[in-house]
Amino acid sequence: MRRRENSVILLCYPYAFSHKDFFMDYMKSIKLIDKLEASGTLEKEEFVFLLSHHTRETGEYLFEKARNVTNRYFNGYIYLRGLIEITNYCKNDCYYCGIRRSNRQVARYRLSPEEILACCDMGYPLGFRTFVLQGGEDAYYSDETVISIVKSIKAKYPDCAVTLSIGEKSYESYLNFFKAGADRYLLRHETADSLHYSRLHPLGQTLESRKSCLYALKDIGYQVGTGFMVGSPFQTKENLAEDLLFIKELRPEMIGIGPFISHHDTPFADQPSGSMESTLFVIGILRLMIPNALIPATTALGTIDPDGRARGILAGANVVMPNLSPQEVRKKYALYDNKICTDEEAAEGILQLREGVEKLGYKIKTDRGDFNPLNSKM
Ligand code: SAH
Repeated sequence: MRRRENSVILLCYPYAFSHKDFFMDYMKSIKLIDKLEASGTLEKEEFVFLLSHHTRETGEYLFEKARNVTNRYFNGYIYLRGLIEITNYCKNDCYYCGIRRSNRQVARYRLSPEEILACCDMGYPLGFRTFVLQGGEDAYYSDETVISIVKSIKAKYPDCAVTLSIGEKSYESYLNFFKAGADRYLLRHETADSLHYSRLHPLGQTLESRKSCLYALKDIGYQVGTGFMVGSPFQTKENLAEDLLFIKELRPEMIGIGPFISHHDTPFADQPSGSMESTLFVIGILRLMIPNALIPATTALGTIDPDGRARGILAGANVVMPNLSPQEVRKKYALYDNKICTDEEAAEGILQLREGVEKLGYKIKTDRGDFNPLNSKM
């Protein structure tokens, strides 16, 4: 009998031990989230701890705080951006991206300046006041062409913001686009660790050059967006911590975070995709780090899970970016597999999003939705 009791104790001991450990880790995570909320940042090792001990419970604790901060700064409004995918030609060869130069399977397309303007014509009556022109790095769009496209959109829709997301350019080009009227620029840093960067990109594409573009954009006066994929191949928790610290240093006005999703015709075809849960957790952390940042619930998040975009909003995101590209090109702008919203009309997409947002208790705001530096109601 005595023997049996002992063995029961022995069998339970590891469980009791790990249970205690789990509780201690939980308490430490909660303290770190409180510290993050109070100070806006953490030490690198603290971020690593938080990310490594992420559970449903720590997530819920973080998301509630993140939601409160979003509501305090944005009063329950969600901002709208119309995404126009202007070209899938690209001179770069990023290993993760479906429209990389080496992918011979892609049916390439580019939109003419008139076609781009027609997308804005469609978006304006639907309530869009920001147009995001995104594409691969395509020499067809010379500086002159970009300038004339920006000018024509601003001339026709002076109450709208124009965001560019067309990759790495010289300081001078960025300056000229800005002078032509471009308001914002999105350029994800992808990873803040140069070794990790070199495992995601071929030689010739460097973190250094990516960062100098971001600092140039800041210097010129753009509202700048950066970001990265969660769960990209070879990414460690330390890499993610460095991404967060880089963002704290750059202080972007916009932060785009989505899960990595593999594309079947890339060198990363067999790599596992990132998870919705870890992406949401990173969104929550960033909301506490930069309370007034504009953070989209991205299409990639909606692709990895049907509830992804709603869950993104509940984790602290406050922007949605419905697709305004002509329907016939949407499938061709395939950065990753199974991208959502490629079959619907723009009007359909916005209607669905609006309903989804309202169901969550938020409202869509129809204005430019600029970054508000004075928005410091904390
Ligand atoms: N050429 C522009 C636009 C790139 S596409 C630029 O360089 O900024 C926009 C973003 O999509 C990229 O920055 C990248 O983070 C993301 N992306 C690319 N491939 C992806 C994939 N397989 N899964 C998830 N996101 C991806």
